[in-house]
Amino acid sequence: MATESLDQKRAEFLALAGMAFERMFGSDGQNGLVTFAQREERACEVSDELARWLMAEHVGEDPAGEAGVECRCPICAGPVRYPSAEQARQEVRELMTRRGKIEYRRAAARCPRCRRIFFPAG
Ligand SMILES: [Zn+2]
Repeated sequence: MATESLDQKRAEFLALAGMAFERMFGSDGQNGLVTFAQREERACEVSDELARWLMAEHVGEDPAGEAGVECRCPICAGPVRYPSAEQARQEVRELMTRRGKIEYRRAAARCPRCRRIFFPAG
């Protein structure tokens, strides 16, 4: 991953973390949260959102999910390679994590022999 896009991702995360902080503390340091249960609920809610964002972004950077990577067809075990990103369909995948459901995009590959669409393991 290029340093430039890593810096951009860091900035995105810090902006989200800043919003999470605001939802917890607001402008008065309490943000209307009175009971411990309310504080716990809000803290878990905002940190779960950050955790889901981190997981989705991290798995989205998985090199095995990128176009141009050679992989093996799960049916015939033959090699499947996409020469360019345009030839690989990006598909949205869902994953249930301990912190809730995340969605991320990754390249789907089509085996030229079986004509089956699959996702490179990773
Ligand atoms: Zn195949």
